[in-house]
Amino acid sequence: MPEVIKNYINGEWVDAVQGNTFESNSPADNRDVIGIIPESDISDVDKAVAAARAAFRSWSLTPAPKRGELLYRAAEILSKRKKELGELCCREMGKVMAESLGDVQEAIDMSYFMAGEGRRLQGETVPSELPGKDAKSVRVPVGVFAQITPWNFPTAIPIWKLAPAIVCGNTVVFKPAEQTPVCATRLVEIFEEAGLPPGVLNLVHGFGETVGEPLVRHAEVDGVSFTGSNVVGEHLAVICAEQHKEFVMETGGKNPVIVMDDANLDLAVEGALWGAFGTTGQRCTAASRLIVHDDIYDAFLASFTEKTKQLTIGNGLNLENQVGPIISKEQYDKVLAYIEIGKKEGATLHLDGGAYTKGDCAYGTFIAPTIFTDVNPRMRIAQEEIFGPVVSIIRCSDLEMAIEIANGIAFGLSSAIYSQDVNKTAIAERELDAGLVYINASTIGAEIQLPFGGTKHTGAGPREAGGRGGALDFYTKWKIIYRDFSGKLQKAQIDD
Ligand code: ADP
Repeated sequence: MPEVIKNYINGEWVDAVQGNTFESNSPADNRDVIGIIPESDISDVDKAVAAARAAFRSWSLTPAPKRGELLYRAAEILSKRKKELGELCCREMGKVMAESLGDVQEAIDMSYFMAGEGRRLQGETVPSELPGKDAKSVRVPVGVFAQITPWNFPTAIPIWKLAPAIVCGNTVVFKPAEQTPVCATRLVEIFEEAGLPPGVLNLVHGFGETVGEPLVRHAEVDGVSFTGSNVVGEHLAVICAEQHKEFVMETGGKNPVIVMDDANLDLAVEGALWGAFGTTGQRCTAASRLIVHDDIYDAFLASFTEKTKQLTIGNGLNLENQVGPIISKEQYDKVLAYIEIGKKEGATLHLDGGAYTKGDCAYGTFIAPTIFTDVNPRMRIAQEEIFGPVVSIIRCSDLEMAIEIANGIAFGLSSAIYSQDVNKTAIAERELDAGLVYINASTIGAEIQLPFGGTKHTGAGPREAGGRGGALDFYTKWKIIYRDFSGKLQKAQIDD
């Protein structure tokens, strides 16, 4: 029996005001209906924002270390329930069990990390230029946040947003991806169990246009954090700019792995494989372009192709499977369309993965790992985000050419180089125009204690994750305090 899911508003679990619902199905098996989900609209948004607004003052005045303790308790519960949450993530999102457990682990890590931030949240004290006067900066909460998340990290990305917002003293209305609502609900239940006061975190299920957008536009929302597609992010950026709202967006990537002639080839093949086909290519940091030096091209391609063919495809609940399904029929059609585009553009379909319907996979949306060679860097398959298990291999003859190809895209999220020459890796570190650079490691695997984000069309606004220089800078604003205890009028910048 599918679980009947509710919205969470002001500490109460409630149906959508209009009473409409939709289903959440497993992408690995469309017979597996996981939840019946409230299909909310603007009236639910209004209630949730009102609750978040009402809770804001008292939460913002709760000492930050106490707010942190609550996150610590949430992290403890998440840890205890890791396996159960991992299985749910696997069923609802499709990523294989090892990766689903990793998704939950990232949520745990972020909760612990942000719990600790409750005892830091540092500002600065600096000397004043005048006697009998001091000067300091303090972080203050922003207000009510709208947090809109995608489906590809159904527990990690929500916690990336919820944990810093909450520890910084904000209140939240959370609109999770419509594809992974049950995972989102579990997370909110955990915050409730951890003792979060009513109204601090509210959950409204539903679709982007009917819930997400009214939420972003709501006059009582002070800030918006969005992870998803470029087209939606850019649309929301305009709304937020017009309304003077804080805004951060994390969107696309087209991430390169450079493999130099002096690379440890086995390591590079393993890294490229993990980057390209981990999470079935459905990561914003997925390695979708392999830029390989002419001198080792044949050896690399032979080994990479061989290892790709060995990957096992199927429902991730079966621990033997390494590549799970594509999230939805819509996304499945898009990935298959890109394979056709690559063929039409004249790239060689070196490994024709394509639609995969063997056995029970016929009940899901599976695409087998697909490799294009003879790819020109200007082709659409080498420029646009595919978000599926399709990788383009591009030749290069030296480091300069490799970096030019790597940077020759609209995005700048992640990048990687395999080389054993310290000078080459140092040049790549300096020259790669991306928010993340990995040396002798793949494009995926960011850790939560450092900021995460990219350059160019990959995002806008401050970085997510991390502490200072990252999420804390988005979820607080600076207040600068000058205190004059000299007892006389002192004028800054005015000569005596
Ligand atoms: P994807 O293609 O990965 O599903 P989207 O950008 O469509 O990416 O969706 C990411 C999140 O943004 C989801 O929670 C979705 O419901 C939400 N969303 C989609 N359209 C809008 C919109 N117009 N306004 C606000 N949120 C939206």
